[in-house]
Amino acid sequence: MRVVPGFDLFFIVLHALLIPLVGLVAWLVTGLPALFALALALLPAYLLLALHRPLRRRRAAGAPFPGEWREFLLTRSPFYRGLDESGRMRFERDVRLFLAETRIAGSGGAPVSWPTALLVAAGAATMLHGRPDWEPPLHDGVTVYPGFAFDRSYRPGRGRIAGQAPAGGPLLVAEKSLLEGFAGERDGINVMIHELAHYFDLEARKGGLRVAADRARPVSWGAAIEGAYERHDFSRSPLPAYASRNEAEFFACASEMFFENPRRLSAACPRLYSLLSEFYGQDPELLPLPPPS
Ligand SMILES: [Zn+2]
Repeated sequence: MRVVPGFDLFFIVLHALLIPLVGLVAWLVTGLPALFALALALLPAYLLLALHRPLRRRRAAGAPFPGEWREFLLTRSPFYRGLDESGRMRFERDVRLFLAETRIAGSGGAPVSWPTALLVAAGAATMLHGRPDWEPPLHDGVTVYPGFAFDRSYRPGRGRIAGQAPAGGPLLVAEKSLLEGFAGERDGINVMIHELAHYFDLEARKGGLRVAADRARPVSWGAAIEGAYERHDFSRSPLPAYASRNEAEFFACASEMFFENPRRLSAACPRLYSLLSEFYGQDPELLPLPPPS
């Protein structure tokens, strides 16, 4: 994540130039100098509104990262533990930016504890680490349900749904399953990574992402993951059986393994690993293996 995305700055500067220009043209066309004066008067109001988000992000990025949070991440995220000092600083900045802009609430709007919010943010920071120009695809935030699961009627403590990624958002996750996903193990199970992967997948398809994969020419992301799904040998796969349901679940389950146990995925499915490595812009297999906490 960029502290201030270049795209945002481009439009702020463009609009700041256009407002007086439109006022000037209106004056010349109508002969009313008041229109130019009005445009000039509007400019500070526009800048105040437009700069609100960049300034909020800058403040968030510059805020100190609590030592308690760092200790918690060291015990909960092998990915974070494996990063060098500059990698950890960037990860922490991404966590800060994420928390400043993403609504994370319990069901019914109840507040969530800081470890829960931190792990939600850690999932996003992990997946964005190799894509500094991407933003978290969570426009509608995250709703956290108590317990390990909820049912189809969203009743906590019943059913077997640990997380869900409805197309219209928000991302839904059961708190205890979220914590378990970050238990520091390399079991390839992390519900936050899984559900977030669904949103990254949707964004990549909408945004027309193209990947080279192992082909001569780049292809659309949709075609690349569809091809990987079709040629995957599920009888010898390290992925859970759930991955065979469809290409979206295949990608989400593969993403869990990619970040939780990259060496296992790379050894068993090198083509799939390299496709995910290109998608996420990173190679977590290369991170040193720190001792378990
Ligand atoms: Zn899924």
